Amino acid sequence: MADRMLQFVSLAQRQPDKRASSMRREDFAEIYADFDPAQASAQSSRCSQCGVPFCQVHCPLANNIPDWLKLTAENRLQEAYEVSAATNTFPEICGRICPQDRLCEGNCVIEKGFESVTIGAVERFITDHAWEQGWVTGPKPRQERPQSVGIIGAGPGGLAAAERLRTLGYQVHVYDRYDRVGGLMIYGIPGFKLEKDIVLRRWKLLEDGGITFHLGVELGRNLSFAELRARHDSVLIATGVYKARDIGGPGSGLPGIETAMDFLTASNRKGLGDDVPEFDSGRLNAAGKRVVVIGGGDTAMDCVRTATRQGAASVACLYRRDKANMPGSMREVKNAEEEGVQFVWLSAPEAFLGDDHVTGVRVQRMRLGLTDSSGRQAVEATDSRMTLDADLVIKALGFDPEELPRLWDEPGLEVSRWGTLKVEHRTQMTMLPGVFAAGDIVRGASLVVWAIRDGRDAAARMHKYMQQGAMQVAAE
Ligand code: FAD
Ligand code: SF4
Ligand code: SF4
Repeated sequence: MADRMLQFVSLAQRQPDKRASSMRREDFAEIYADFDPAQASAQSSRCSQCGVPFCQVHCPLANNIPDWLKLTAENRLQEAYEVSAATNTFPEICGRICPQDRLCEGNCVIEKGFESVTIGAVERFITDHAWEQGWVTGPKPRQERPQSVGIIGAGPGGLAAAERLRTLGYQVHVYDRYDRVGGLMIYGIPGFKLEKDIVLRRWKLLEDGGITFHLGVELGRNLSFAELRARHDSVLIATGVYKARDIGGPGSGLPGIETAMDFLTASNRKGLGDDVPEFDSGRLNAAGKRVVVIGGGDTAMDCVRTATRQGAASVACLYRRDKANMPGSMREVKNAEEEGVQFVWLSAPEAFLGDDHVTGVRVQRMRLGLTDSSGRQAVEATDSRMTLDADLVIKALGFDPEELPRLWDEPGLEVSRWGTLKVEHRTQMTMLPGVFAAGDIVRGASLVVWAIRDGRDAAARMHKYMQQGAMQVAAE
């Protein structure tokens, strides 16, 4: 019903309602409301049903966006859900936390002149509605297969692979050092972006579908890699990247200087009702403190917004470039600004002050220089300096991979110069036969949607390997 579509000319873009910043500072609940069916239908009808849909081209999962928008516009929500779930293991999660402005929505053709279709919010609505209606089901294998797979890491990459392989009938075992499933979706990303129940209900569905989770098992510590390989016909490594990039300089070892992951994990665990001594003692709790977060990416945005919600006296974000050059999503920067975070652009920490605990950060002011070959403007130090008072400093400078070949005593696992696992790009297999890899451990710190894509692709290759052997996978 094409006449229902193309409404962008007369109907303005409308994002789901956002809670007032004064209210959202008080809790860790999500800040956006869900569309109601009428809003979802109306917003979907703005799509012009492009013959070459650039939204889909720029979605890492190649989601069939025009089709599910049309079905939503026509109130055929169960079909919309089925189309959406066919390519995405966690559509309601991507709808919430994908940086749509850089992916699907940023490439929607009506973005030029009219504002883009609200693809992420519709995707979220479709699957939230499907959950309410009981349409969402776990893996249902048509046949059981005797082969088993071992997946290391229960983040989005590992879970996406687990879901596909279980659907194909394999005996799927997922190992994770954490006590909960979800990886960074459970302990990294805060609840105001992704409420934890949404991840927990997916965990239950996968478990009900026959996937076995071995939690509290750290490869290289409680279980050797060799032993795991011996247990399974094929193995997937999806362990993510967790080694925090550090910062040196005078005073950098002072108490009160913490890493982003420690801070965010403690906050998420507290929200999940765990006993968190480091939070209760005040070490990883921003309440009443002057907080300085160093970094300009999405992790830094999550830290400043978490500190605000914990009741920090003040929150400043220190970033060496300017706003236009920030790597973080502009939507998250805007949300942080609305919530009262102070951004200190063109500033780099030079020294941390204090005797037995951090009391401040001496900051060197920077200026932007010439654009380098990557298109990014260089930064240069100036002679100007200032001091920021601080009781808690959080380092959010990015993550690198752990040294898996050494930690797992497996030199056959080759790594790149950045420490990420090397895989044969057509097969996603490492240099070890039957051992595949997916997600951040291959790409470096990336996005949930890319981890899902890698996990699904790896599952297809593992299936081929187990059915036809290594030669066939390589010949793909
Ligand atoms: P992970 O999610 O990191 O999962 C890896 C799992 O492996 C973990 O559960 C870990 O415990 C386990 N593991 C590691 N080593 C071992 C071992 N030796 N033995 C057993 N288990 C092990 N992306 C977005 O798309 N949108 C966002 O808004 C967003 N926000 C983010 C905010 C923060 C604070 C961070 C840190 C990242 C964010 N990301 C975001 C990035 C996204 O979370 C990751 O790209 C994604 O989770 C990677 O998935 P993965 O499966 O590769 O690894
Ligand atoms: Fe957009 Fe992400 Fe959904 Fe793809 S998965 S359509 S990029 S929100
Ligand atoms: Fe619809 Fe925009 Fe995608 Fe075109 S690019 S199909 S208008 S959502």
